Amino acid sequence: MDLKAPRGTRDILPVETPAWQYVEQSFSSVCDRFSFQEIRVPTFEQTELFQRGVGDTTDIVQKEMYTFEDKGGRSMTLRPEGTAGVVRAYLENGLSSEPSPQKLYYILNSFRYEKMGKGRYREFNQMGCELFGSEEPTADAEIISLLFLFFRELGLKEINLKINSIGCPKCKPAYLDQLREYLRPQIHELCENCQDRFERNPMRILDCKEDAENEIVKNAPLQLEHLCSECEEHFASLCAELDNLGFQYEIDGHIVRGLDYYSRTVFEFISNNVGTQGTICGGGRYDGLIEELGGLPTPAVGFALGVERLLMELNSQNIVLPSVKGPDIYIVSFPDTINQAAKICFELRNNKIKAENNLNARSFRAQMKYADRIQAKYLVVLGEDELKTEKVSLKRMSDGEEIELDLADLAEYIKNN
Ligand code: ATP
Ligand code: MG
Repeated sequence: MDLKAPRGTRDILPVETPAWQYVEQSFSSVCDRFSFQEIRVPTFEQTELFQRGVGDTTDIVQKEMYTFEDKGGRSMTLRPEGTAGVVRAYLENGLSSEPSPQKLYYILNSFRYEKMGKGRYREFNQMGCELFGSEEPTADAEIISLLFLFFRELGLKEINLKINSIGCPKCKPAYLDQLREYLRPQIHELCENCQDRFERNPMRILDCKEDAENEIVKNAPLQLEHLCSECEEHFASLCAELDNLGFQYEIDGHIVRGLDYYSRTVFEFISNNVGTQGTICGGGRYDGLIEELGGLPTPAVGFALGVERLLMELNSQNIVLPSVKGPDIYIVSFPDTINQAAKICFELRNNKIKAENNLNARSFRAQMKYADRIQAKYLVVLGEDELKTEKVSLKRMSDGEEIELDLADLAEYIKNN
């Protein structure tokens, strides 16, 4: 039988997991300093949640969802993103009656049936934040500043923030009419996808990758030029706040984001490096979503960041990430000392030391070779003599230097060296 991982999925192998853990821990650490708390939500939800929460008109709901009927005949969908599930959990568990704003973060896998490409998978990983209960531009700025700090701590450079405002229910409809009117006579000159978007999601045409260089798209009217006074003021305050924090950004009227529920602020962090899928992180404000999913009207702002793309970017910027680390010590033993070796090994581990011993009944020589291959930092040989005298000779593998130690001092010595 030829068993392979499904198309669009990938194994994250032991050589890669230290980098993943590092990125995830760095993210958690930054989130914690901003008082965002972790939430974990189910991998699948009722299909309706995503239809309503992501939006029926989006590419995700139209073509990309993994939807199936469970054995009880209910329609379920593997989450294509994190926000809808987090909002559902927030409402269902009464977090909406906790002090406002509620600040939540998540690290989760998502599923989208997409055409594969570099940085584009069918199962991928996202890290994201949601801030519920503040409509102030300072909340938008805080979300963005969290990302700046995260990228800075990872050592990431050359990553550009683009921001835009896509208005609110007050100013959006009139603008959309105008956009459709402008596009209608020339829509047949755009790609098939855009023709498809014309009725259901015309704003999405503005950030179409295929038509990006088309003059029709370049010259299209932008929401940014047609904001109501409240939205205009909100956007100006956000820009002022970002200036105040000292962040560089570019205002780009063509950034619109794919999801239906965005209003006002939208932003993307984009890498300069060719070869990777440009957008590492996308976010914005979605003041209408919580109400759409059955809650009280509650303003919200957040983002989602693709972990695969972030790691690709870190690699292409030659940022050194943690790699697999060998044990602190390997204990070489003989058939009549193996049990004692196992006991000492356990004690060392109990003392927070990463210790290994002989699990394969290897010969003395084979154990020495193995300790070298797994890059143990130290090595001791535990024979009858060592057990009797309770003294061992600790060998540093990097230069072969040996020191004599009481067995009882082993843990302490390794910890301090
Ligand atoms: P794109 O325009 O690249 O399709 P998107 O707008 O669909 O992205 P979002 O829904 O905003 O993406 O998801 C947030 C982030 O998740 C993206 O910026 C990207 O880094 C990552 N992402 C989205 N889809 C995929 C995928 N199929 N494979 C890997 N990462 C993805
Ligand atoms: Mg997409």
